[in-house]
Amino acid sequence: MRVLIISDIHANQVALETVLADAAGGYDVVWFLGDLIGYGPNPNECVEIVRALPGLVALVGNHDKAVLGEIDLSVFNGDARAAITWTQDTVTPATLDYLRALPARVQAGDYTLAHGSPRQPVWEYILDRFVAQDNFAVFTTPYCLVGHTHMPVLYRQAGPHGEAFEEAPDYKSARSLRGERVIINPGSVGQPRDNNPEAAYAVLDTATDLWEFRRVPYDLFATQSRMRAAHLPERLAARLGFGW
Ligand code: ZN
Repeated sequence: MRVLIISDIHANQVALETVLADAAGGYDVVWFLGDLIGYGPNPNECVEIVRALPGLVALVGNHDKAVLGEIDLSVFNGDARAAITWTQDTVTPATLDYLRALPARVQAGDYTLAHGSPRQPVWEYILDRFVAQDNFAVFTTPYCLVGHTHMPVLYRQAGPHGEAFEEAPDYKSARSLRGERVIINPGSVGQPRDNNPEAAYAVLDTATDLWEFRRVPYDLFATQSRMRAAHLPERLAARLGFGW
């Protein structure tokens, strides 16, 4: 089974449609790792697109929960908070109902899926190998997929209970995961933060456990102009151009 792995769309419809077009024909089902909305200009449209994807497994993210009113907005920075408030004024009841039903952590075959981390599915950021190492102890499958940091990365564990090591994404060739324990982040579709503005996603073949990191440029000016027309914070529009 070929799985399209997407995360952190953040209401960026142009990036989402570009990823789906780029991956078209190359996947059977879709796993989405959370944060469908927040930051971007098209929350309802993105929910409609994602919920119609084939074989979808979808998670809730911290921004989704904030829009639902399930997280205190004081934990977000000013721009993120402004975008969440804007999104709350924009989303339809159908969008809210859909997000409210999403789980925070699921297991799909050999893969544990969580937005932030298996230990704290909604909030924890796995930003280094030490946090990754702690998290290897709290899932039992060989593999774990996370989002939330918006940075593509792979952590592998050296032997049972061993140290965790970090690997940068290789966009040129697929990587076999067989025989290893790994935590992988595919990066963000709608707001990359690794200084590369191209939309990030991944494709996984569960028959062979081959993983491919991918990037695709999208019309970020289109997303920026929609954000400016919606009077979302200018800094949130500008950052898309820097990939941060
Ligand atoms: Zn996010």
